Amino acid sequence: MTKIFAITNQKGGVGKTTTSVNLAASLATAGRNVLLIDLDPQANATMGSGTNKQTVQRTVYQVLLGEIEIQSVRIRNLQTKYDLIPSNRDLAGAEVEMVTLPKREMRLKSALSQIEEEYHFIIIDCPPALNLLTLNGLCAAHAVMIPMQCEYYALEGLSDLVNTIKKVRTNFNPKLRIEGLLRTMFDPRNILAQQVSDQLQQHFGSKVYRTVIPRNIRLAEAPGFGIPVLYHDRQSKGAKAYLELANEVLNV
Ligand code: ATP
Ligand code: MG
Repeated sequence: MTKIFAITNQKGGVGKTTTSVNLAASLATAGRNVLLIDLDPQANATMGSGTNKQTVQRTVYQVLLGEIEIQSVRIRNLQTKYDLIPSNRDLAGAEVEMVTLPKREMRLKSALSQIEEEYHFIIIDCPPALNLLTLNGLCAAHAVMIPMQCEYYALEGLSDLVNTIKKVRTNFNPKLRIEGLLRTMFDPRNILAQQVSDQLQQHFGSKVYRTVIPRNIRLAEAPGFGIPVLYHDRQSKGAKAYLELANEVLNV
């Protein structure tokens, strides 16, 4: 059975892409077949996986518009051991261009149906917005993973996201569920972070992943080399945390 994760939070810079890339690499190194889909015109997951967004020719953009088959867009990377569907800035236009297409929210889901059986896990890195691209991610997914920083405004945005997920479940994708909230960039010395973390656990209970991703410089450095942190510094706290998250995901 394939499990499809949408990594989403409309708030920017909370660790969606870092989580997508490093969870993909950690699941792949555990021997699972993994596909990472970059659904963000910023193409950070593409760059962070070692593909140059400036020169890449075939992307998820053409797949969403139905111009090319998803099979011909996949990039196999022997080092990172997961497959990538890349993105580039063209994707920013897709929202407008998809509006007139039939079933515009289901375009990723229908494309994925051609290849999903080849994978144990498909991870979708969503953009920081509740837009048509994110909607395509949520309609294609089984599970939502919400990375968040433990700060005051994080909780405010969360209710909008939870409401959006409920609407998607009612209207398009009855199987969709929130699998977990992931605490990212965590600094245990920060008292507010501790308080918000406690509140999260009170409200969401077992929906909060046990794994906490610490703030770790190696995680921030790795994208500059186009590699997941595992291949940059396997002993770093960041690498270990994402391996632990992969274990938690595998044991659910
Ligand atoms: P966007 O909303 O723009 O897509 P995002 O939610 O995908 O952002 P990231 O790009 O993963 O967030 O992270 C934002 C920045 O924080 C990046 O520079 C990243 O390298 C850094 N970062 C992410 N997680 C950590 C961490 N645990 N420790 C240190 N730096 C981190
Ligand atoms: Mg991102």
